[in-house]
Amino acid sequence: MPHVITQSCCNDGSCVFACPVNCIHPTPDEPGFATSEMLYIDPVACVDCGACVSACPVGAIAPDSRLGAEQLPFVEVNSSFYPKRAAGVKLPPTSKLAPVIPAAEVHARRQPLTVAIVGSGPAAMYAADELLVQHGVQVNVFEKLPTPYGLVRAGVAPDHQNTKRVTQLFDRVTRHRRFRFYLNVEIGKHLSHAELLAHHHAVLYAVGAPDDRRLDIDGMGLRGTGTATELVAWINGHPDFSDLTVDLSHERVVIIGNGNVALDVARVLTADPNELAYTDIADHALRAFRNSAVREVVVAARRGPAHSAFTLPELIGLTARSDVVLDPSDHQRVLDDLPTAADPLTRNKLEILSALGVADARAPGARRPRIRLAYRLTPQRVLGQQRATGVEFSVTGTDAVRQLDAGLVLTSIGYRGKLIRDLPFDEEAAVVPNDGGRVIDPRTGEPVPGAYVAGWIKRGPTGFIGTNKSCSFQTVQALVADFNSGRLADPVAKPTALAELVHARQPEAVGSAGWRAIDAAEMARGSADGRPRNKFTDVAEMLAAAATAPQAPLRRRLVARLRDLAQPIVG
Ligand code: NAP
Repeated sequence: MPHVITQSCCNDGSCVFACPVNCIHPTPDEPGFATSEMLYIDPVACVDCGACVSACPVGAIAPDSRLGAEQLPFVEVNSSFYPKRAAGVKLPPTSKLAPVIPAAEVHARRQPLTVAIVGSGPAAMYAADELLVQHGVQVNVFEKLPTPYGLVRAGVAPDHQNTKRVTQLFDRVTRHRRFRFYLNVEIGKHLSHAELLAHHHAVLYAVGAPDDRRLDIDGMGLRGTGTATELVAWINGHPDFSDLTVDLSHERVVIIGNGNVALDVARVLTADPNELAYTDIADHALRAFRNSAVREVVVAARRGPAHSAFTLPELIGLTARSDVVLDPSDHQRVLDDLPTAADPLTRNKLEILSALGVADARAPGARRPRIRLAYRLTPQRVLGQQRATGVEFSVTGTDAVRQLDAGLVLTSIGYRGKLIRDLPFDEEAAVVPNDGGRVIDPRTGEPVPGAYVAGWIKRGPTGFIGTNKSCSFQTVQALVADFNSGRLADPVAKPTALAELVHARQPEAVGSAGWRAIDAAEMARGSADGRPRNKFTDVAEMLAAAATAPQAPLRRRLVARLRDLAQPIVG
């Protein structure tokens, strides 16, 4: 009964270090970890102890005897990562210890290491977790929304609730007594980089890649065009996107690009709203889906099936739950590509694609909305005068033209990092130039003192939630080494001054208690309908919920007061 890693694998590698026999690979120190689509359990070496199950933050691991029908393909996916061995050959038990960052040194004449983290998504929270393991280190996390956790809250599709379970790990981090949230505080608006540095030894930016890559073709910008990432934010109730106009009155939606974000959107647009009603989907999106006329979502890739950008686990999940079809010509392309598949992963994807139904290109799904994966279509222009009515593609590498009618045209061609005020920026790669997380000034090639990056703003928009764990580990390792070697100046401001400064600049800042009040209120709103939560989609509503946070008992408040000389954070 070996254990099996399934679709919601987050790649954070916690299971690797929990495993007593080192049977989960690739490990964070092995080549291929950063680009691996998931982690795999060796069925021969697995001793069925279940330690990985407890360590996995997203509930992605189960014994092979307890898998649902749609998860059964993962038995083969896990075992095919390993070479075939003769039956009965057991591997010798080995173990792998989690790497440890040398402790931040405690000096009689120096202040304990104090770090500001900007952003509160996975890279930020994994960095906070690493820092707080260290004796005496203080972590302050700044986030511009009143709610934390970045793309886990606003980017993971609502039908992937297991993936969102990683927030339970992050919630644990926020309960640490040396952790402090400054939510609803925007760096660059309420506080500057220099001000953060005056109150901390280091500032670590984990702000992600908040912009979309834009497709520069005629007609983008017409009504009825947009980006998949905006749509995901709207579906997830992000307050900046709750007013988005999403027209689902036409029977076809076209999505340009075929990465995992495109699959997320296609799956949710074609899902049964009665099932979505049991998720944390925003109410406005659920209402729109109940009235949707969409019968077909075309996911259009410019290259062929062997170069599909979606990952194998997501393709397995998609085909298990949705009606997915190919055009006859694309089905033939899949069959043509199969014999020359470059690697086992691509072969596996092509095999799944080859088993899909073949669609008449003109007839959208009759019973339930369907998803059509389409290949070798290079977008040329969006059709329509006042609003989008379709897309014109060229068949890649030829002069042939193909038009598809659609009422909604979404690009899903990746995210893009954004300039951070007062830090260097690499426009081409859309990341902050860095060496292992240390921000580098491109003019001198030297580190910018006290400035660090982690996550997508450090390495670009690739990988999964857990990929950020090792990414943040590397950055924290560099930061602590710099502190220990005296390269980080002690903050000039008194430790007690930060809360006062934040309050002066943003009286509506929200602290950990305020977030917990928002969290509890959202869960209470959802529970009556059997939903994990019903999100607030408006900042004013969030702040009203935060303001209901119970005040700490007087004694605790006095102690905090003595420590901080101020307690101005809402909640
Ligand atoms: P992505 O994986 O980078 O896919 C981008 C897609 O856009 C590709 O199909 C690419 O085609 C296409 N594209 C780029 N430029 C184009 C152009 N000018 N014209 C037409 N097509 C173009 O991006 P993503 O889907 O936004 O995902 C970002 C990251 O988040 C990925 O690492 C993804 O795995 C991860 N993610 C994971 C999950 C999950 O695990 N459930 C969910 C969402 C996102 P080419 O390949 O031809 O360049």
